[in-house]
Amino acid sequence: MTQVAGRSRHAPVRPVVDLADRRALLACQVDDPEVAEEGRRLKEAALLDFGVKDSVVSSWLFAKCHYQIPTAAVDTAAVVATGDGSCLLLYNPEFFVAIGASGVRFVLFHEARHLIHRHLYVEEELRADPVFDLAAEVAINHVALIRLGRTELPTRAVPDGEGGTRREPVGVDPREVHRMYQTDLREQNLQPLSYEDFTVTDLTIYGELKRMRNPPVPPVLCVHMGAGGDGDGQNGVPMDPETVSSVVDRTLAELMRRALRGEELAREELLTLADRSADGGKRLERMWGRMGLGALRGETQRTRRVEWWRRWLHDVLASKLREGERLIYPKKQGAVLLALGHDPMLSRRGAERTKVVVVALDTSGSMPQEVVDWITSLVGRTEGVESHWLSFDGTVMPFAPGERVHGGGGTSFQAVVDYVEGRLAVNGRRFEESADAVIMVTDGYAPAVTPERPDRWIWLITDGGDDWPERHDPPMACHRVVTGDS
Ligand SMILES: [Zn+2]
Repeated sequence: MTQVAGRSRHAPVRPVVDLADRRALLACQVDDPEVAEEGRRLKEAALLDFGVKDSVVSSWLFAKCHYQIPTAAVDTAAVVATGDGSCLLLYNPEFFVAIGASGVRFVLFHEARHLIHRHLYVEEELRADPVFDLAAEVAINHVALIRLGRTELPTRAVPDGEGGTRREPVGVDPREVHRMYQTDLREQNLQPLSYEDFTVTDLTIYGELKRMRNPPVPPVLCVHMGAGGDGDGQNGVPMDPETVSSVVDRTLAELMRRALRGEELAREELLTLADRSADGGKRLERMWGRMGLGALRGETQRTRRVEWWRRWLHDVLASKLREGERLIYPKKQGAVLLALGHDPMLSRRGAERTKVVVVALDTSGSMPQEVVDWITSLVGRTEGVESHWLSFDGTVMPFAPGERVHGGGGTSFQAVVDYVEGRLAVNGRRFEESADAVIMVTDGYAPAVTPERPDRWIWLITDGGDDWPERHDPPMACHRVVTGDS
């Protein structure tokens, strides 16, 4: 029997206190008031980070946990859902101090995600299967590593048995489980999936773990799962299903409102979440449909499917336009400091100038209108971006979004490069901006080019086209566009 490491993360609950009894929980405190205060501070800081950068979903979910109780009645942290419709976040301040700020973010994200996971996957046969519990741990920690930009699980110090301490990972490492899965399948002469394919959706993980002859026995799971791992709160962890679904429903609805309003973080997180449950069956499809996911994706329900090029363009464009912290020279202050005999200092500033995006459409071939519309809306709703639109064939023609563009003969990428880099005048005018990103939508059939700043060019290659920019030296960001219901 194999065990997954890191079981201490999910140490069982001390069963003495009723976890729905707020007064009893509060009465059960850690000894050191400074530790209690530090734990609370770490919790507050993590929730703030969720709202501004890590996870809008978690931020809203915890905003709906009206009681956040530091208590020694749990060893780690748990979200409890009681029958009166309220959610409680219980956390042990000693545990939070032991795992530090980034560990607290990880654990709180994990707990929030458990509630969402539970809301999404309600089938009885899943609930009854211990492999599904393990799959949930793997899926949640896989997402947590990505969202929080970590490469390792949080760790905490534990006694090493020789009078010292060693650091032990907190939680189930998805990569370790994947290694066990690969070994198991190879022993059966079966072909295992790569880590990337293994983790593509929550249910892929479950389905693949089920192929194992010996699925690893999950350690005692999160406290909210109950010491027996049955997840029904029979071991003292109240987990009222109606409360869970009402809290998660309201959280997702809030997220959707924000996403539809154009909040990029909310939109991106919601779409990622929906994609992770894309194979979850009719019930989930209807749930996302009711919530307005189709509108968010800019697609109809009929043709709803993951169009990776959109996600890709979105991510690539965002990475090229990201607000950077830049060091700037404070002129006035600098002069004063110099006069006083000090070296001028550099200070940081957040916002940079407006970003310039050029979108160039190749009109020599067939240009899917859907692609053009989607790019128009993507660029249009990206804050702080000034867009310039060009159509091109053998020559370059600037236009305003909404205007009809007509194609002529021949195709020249070099004409676009020359125009964007300010060498080629069109109607007597040169392009005088410096483009932060240039999106080329084309079938790719024309002589290759090497712009001055290849890292700023993004090539979307339409159906049946030639994706040479990917193989060019240096290679440029390039993706094939697959459209609609073809
Ligand atoms: Zn867990």
